[in-house]
Amino acid sequence: MTRPLRIMKFGGTSVGDAACIARAAQIVAQAARDSSIVAVVSAMSGVTNSLVAAATRAQSGDRDEGARLAGELRRQHELAIRALVPQQDARASLLRQVDEHVAEAQRLCEGTALLRELTPRTLDAVSSLGERLSAPLLAGALVQAGICAQAVDATELIVTDSHHGGAEPLRDLTRARALSRLQPLLQQGIVPVVTGFIGATPEGVLTTLGRGGSDYSATILGAALDASEIVIWTDVDGVLTADPRLVPDACTIPEISYREAAELAYFGAKVLHPKTLRAVMDAGIPVWIRNSFAPDHPGTKITPKGRTNGGGVKALTAMSDVALISVGGPGIVGVPDVVGRTFSTTAAVRASVLLISQSSSQNDICFIVSSSDAKRTVEALREEFSQDLAHENVEHITLDPEIAIVAVVGENMRGIPGIAGRTFSALGRDNINIIAIAQGSSESNISFVVERGAMKAALAAAHREFGLGARQHGLPAASAS
Ligand code: ASP
Ligand code: MG
Repeated sequence: MTRPLRIMKFGGTSVGDAACIARAAQIVAQAARDSSIVAVVSAMSGVTNSLVAAATRAQSGDRDEGARLAGELRRQHELAIRALVPQQDARASLLRQVDEHVAEAQRLCEGTALLRELTPRTLDAVSSLGERLSAPLLAGALVQAGICAQAVDATELIVTDSHHGGAEPLRDLTRARALSRLQPLLQQGIVPVVTGFIGATPEGVLTTLGRGGSDYSATILGAALDASEIVIWTDVDGVLTADPRLVPDACTIPEISYREAAELAYFGAKVLHPKTLRAVMDAGIPVWIRNSFAPDHPGTKITPKGRTNGGGVKALTAMSDVALISVGGPGIVGVPDVVGRTFSTTAAVRASVLLISQSSSQNDICFIVSSSDAKRTVEALREEFSQDLAHENVEHITLDPEIAIVAVVGENMRGIPGIAGRTFSALGRDNINIIAIAQGSSESNISFVVERGAMKAALAAAHREFGLGARQHGLPAASAS
């Protein structure tokens, strides 16, 4: 097989309705002219949310939830099938598959309501149904477009550990299964349309890779099959210099490195699941982010080394659903192992820490967790340090929910002096107060904390300072949807 192999993943909005699915099919059909294609699909947009919400409501005993969900899913998918597949037999077979999956969703919700218990394993089974519903739809649309295509359940391909809700792939087993299942299809010129987001343990128990995990599915398969590239089709023009809803002048970055993209994903730029690039780092396979609503736009290419834009800073990102916790007081110098105890406590309540800052005087340790973890974390800390609080060795454990993290990202910032200085002077000129600062030793990210109300202004100031804007390059600003 001499044709290059490309993995094409379509996100939820890119298969959001019949028109979007038809557009995705056109993109695949065109690419299939000169390469072998494996398509990977997300659930139609909103479907996974509905599934998770229904299962959660069922858990509190609502017996009608299953039927309600079934009605909603059936309506949405049948509508798309009727628009996409005029041919009677094909349509009937697709409608039958929808029925089966919808019935399964209903049964699972009814079982959950009966038991008033929702195990992670059951939640995975419910939330996987969106992809199992959408993959046959795209396959059907491809067949309509004259392409041989077949829906394939990723439980047959991606072998994972049993960590429900965030499973990790087992590389060798996945490679063996993916090759033996997909290679014969590709050799016959068939486009496999694989369900994103899901996998199965070696024993065959269904798992999911975590919300947004279809991107990861695409790179896992790309690595397993030694693909020449992976294209993530989404609803924005690639990776942008900043969120265009916050910075109207943001524009697409033509090429960035794995590390930069991962850093952006981790700090809340929603284009990629944070684990996506892990799967392809060793093999160095390029990953494109492109807009299925604007397929002529070249998008962003993510490569091992990226390409410099001359300035060091590539992009900005921000997170506002976070809270600042601080543990401190002059007495903490004398408290044994404050740092160790603080972070073993956060670990014990499974709060993930997004940023840490401690001054060398040790008066204060402050760190950031996501808002949903904040209350739990503070309570656990007050408990852990109750003695020290009583003796006033630790004076305060406080929570500030009204903050945001802004991060300045760029791999080539390393070794370029003055970037932190320029960032903070720019903010200072605009009267933006900085609450805390952190820079990882990788030097590809400088993060700082500001009041939530100042986040937008902070982004604008840094974006301007580093000349990231479209207008500064004489380009049109990115279109955001
Ligand atoms: N459908 C899943 C979710 O919404 C996975 C994905 O879209 O990537 O989280
Ligand atoms: Mg997604």
